[in-house]
Amino acid sequence: MEMQMEFIRKLPTPQELKQEFPVDESIRKLKAERDRQIKDIFEGRDNRLLLVIGPCSADREDAVLDYMYRLAGLQEKVKDRIFIIPRVYTNKPRTKGTGYKGMLHQPNPHKEEDMLAGIIAIREMHTRVARETGFTCAEEMLYPENHRYLSDLLSYVAIGARSVEDQLHRIVASGIGIPAGMKNPTGGDISVMMNAITAAQSPQKFVYRGWEVRTNGNPHAHAILRGYVDKFNHSMPNYHYEDLRGLLDLYEETGLANPSVLVDCNHSNSGKQYLEQIRIAKDVMYSCHVNPDIRTMVKGLMIESYLLDGCQKPEDSEYGLSITDPCLGWEKSEQLVLDLAEAVEL
Ligand code: PEP
Ligand code: MN
Repeated sequence: MEMQMEFIRKLPTPQELKQEFPVDESIRKLKAERDRQIKDIFEGRDNRLLLVIGPCSADREDAVLDYMYRLAGLQEKVKDRIFIIPRVYTNKPRTKGTGYKGMLHQPNPHKEEDMLAGIIAIREMHTRVARETGFTCAEEMLYPENHRYLSDLLSYVAIGARSVEDQLHRIVASGIGIPAGMKNPTGGDISVMMNAITAAQSPQKFVYRGWEVRTNGNPHAHAILRGYVDKFNHSMPNYHYEDLRGLLDLYEETGLANPSVLVDCNHSNSGKQYLEQIRIAKDVMYSCHVNPDIRTMVKGLMIESYLLDGCQKPEDSEYGLSITDPCLGWEKSEQLVLDLAEAVEL
């Protein structure tokens, strides 16, 4: 029978790649220290607001580094009130499975796909961000089997709206040792998200990269509300007070560990009207203000932000302008972070 899948070349394993591009002792310490602080936030010992903020896709290293240098300066200003985990997203899920799928696939968005160059490029970019700006970052765990290419550099993963019902994503999240945000699925069913959290918080045994493996369960798996679409593909928000109250009730019923949520201010919450992120973020702060239980559950926000306002087509190449979802530009992002630092109640 004709082979339907061509095996192009064997790629290095995560272990081999880590040996070739190792992190040094200072990055190991940095990650350990940041992971400890993030854990304190999820376990309620530290009430600072988490901000998972950065471009929808980290499409080019120069603009991403430029952004991260600015963000590091801003983090310093608000460090007593806000803890920033930058989005350095190099794996992009696509609604129709076509188009730009992130730096992993295309290290240069204007050139051919090249996965070997891709895994090296994403490891190098994450390493540079850590070394030069002191941030360990967030990624979407789009391909669970690839997680370990970056596992010594990441402090946070999200399981995307298109992946959250998948068993492998859920059970791999149970063994990664960092918080895993489970997004509500695109159709909005909150029970799918809660079931994903249950699966990720449970010990698991399964097959992973050709191994039989065992995990202890991840007590820092939590919810991310990202809005949803109805059957006519209209965006429907789920960041309002009533949504947060409902989630609080669900957490109470399910008895999950460390009941936590991040509100994703873009995607179907904003209907990709990226400027709305400002109002949505502040609306969530107000819900926290009027209800201490909501404040305890809401650990933070996710914001899509880059150097310039908006987005462009993937074939265009304006520096610092998103080639996937529209982002809030730098000046507005900076102002929003300063405003949130004022608004957060510790
Ligand atoms: C994203 O964070 O850019 C993303 C694709 O999110 P979601 O899975 O919520 O669509
Ligand atoms: Mn996005």
